[in-house]
Amino acid sequence: MKFVDLGRQLEEYKSEIMAEIEEVLSTTAFINGPAVKDLEAQLAEYVGVSHAVGCSSGTDALILGLMALGVGRGDEVIVPDFTFIATAETVSLMGATPVFADVRPDTYNLDPDAIEALISERTVGIMPVSLYGQVADLHEINAIAERHGLWVMEDGAQSFGATYHGKQSCSLSTLATTSFFPAKPLGAYGDAGAVFTNDDALAAKMRMLLNHGQRSRYNHAIIGLNARLDTLQAAILKVKLRHFPEEIAARQRVADAYTEKLATAAHKPAGPAKGTPQATTGSSEATGQAQGVVTPTVLPHNTSTWAQYTIRVADRDRVRASLQEKGIPTSVHYPTPLHTQDAFAGLRSEENPEAAKAAAEVLSLPMHPFLTADEITTVADAVTAAVESSTSPARV
Ligand SMILES: *Cc1c(COP(=O)(O)O)cnc(C)c1O
Repeated sequence: MKFVDLGRQLEEYKSEIMAEIEEVLSTTAFINGPAVKDLEAQLAEYVGVSHAVGCSSGTDALILGLMALGVGRGDEVIVPDFTFIATAETVSLMGATPVFADVRPDTYNLDPDAIEALISERTVGIMPVSLYGQVADLHEINAIAERHGLWVMEDGAQSFGATYHGKQSCSLSTLATTSFFPAKPLGAYGDAGAVFTNDDALAAKMRMLLNHGQRSRYNHAIIGLNARLDTLQAAILKVKLRHFPEEIAARQRVADAYTEKLATAAHKPAGPAKGTPQATTGSSEATGQAQGVVTPTVLPHNTSTWAQYTIRVADRDRVRASLQEKGIPTSVHYPTPLHTQDAFAGLRSEENPEAAKAAAEVLSLPMHPFLTADEITTVADAVTAAVESSTSPARV
């Protein structure tokens, strides 16, 4: 079994993808070929914004956004303490300081209630991450940003295709970024990413930045970089985008099946009806530890693209080892709060208890649109068996 099975997906779309690749090869327009503009137009329409700026990765999308916003030395940017390193790394790369905020225990997204205490006179913006495929609390976060004159940039690397109050991820903030890393919900066959905005001036600036700050050939207005979207990747993404809505539906079916099987089989805290992700509760109040299997919570106003199907269990590493023995791959997104990484050793940060608890307890199960019913049952049964045999030693 694979954690993400890109081979099965390729089998499904192979003839369409090969035709697109042949087209690029036959024209030899490898840099800024027509597929790039085509894809950008389709992405902008899909998300419902004026501008989709294709670029070389999700990390470069963050860099382009921060450069366009003029982030630099002396600035502070509020980021969640529980995310992939790129969110905070790019802030540091600009010479600015990431300020790590705690996350919600149910969705693992940036906790709006944790933000205002961290705002200083140096704060310039907020970068919520829409983790595991579910959009962060953008209405609340945008309202805080407006009160304090800050920008908001959603890191939608995992949530492209998700909706929030009926609107698409990446359409809800000043700027938003996504990644087309192969294992993301919409993945290329190499590195690629995009930035989304309704702001014409920011879009024009990012288009210059990603091509050496060039306003016309060998006429360089500003210092930039090479962060162009590769034409072959754009061509491949055009095919994948056509199939994306049906893939999201398939991911939802996989997630529902996991939740139902895990809810009926595992020990759960007393609570609402089984089988609905919204119905599950978080850590137990009494012990502060996950009880049995805590399945993912998707808030009622959200749909998830299920970049990850992430459960929490008290005895995570033992459950993980037990699955590994049965040949079931799992992953931990992410094993530590970000501020504890050596790369950020020079920074001061508050301890963020929910980020720490999540880092100790989360476990991502195999998730992709082509998982079979048998595979889902195998995984869910293995999780249930591992948790039921757990002695759940008390943690300090
Ligand atoms: C994957 C990811 C990125 C980086 O995307 P790349 O395309 O790999 O550079 C940034 N932020 C988050 C939250 C991610 O999951």
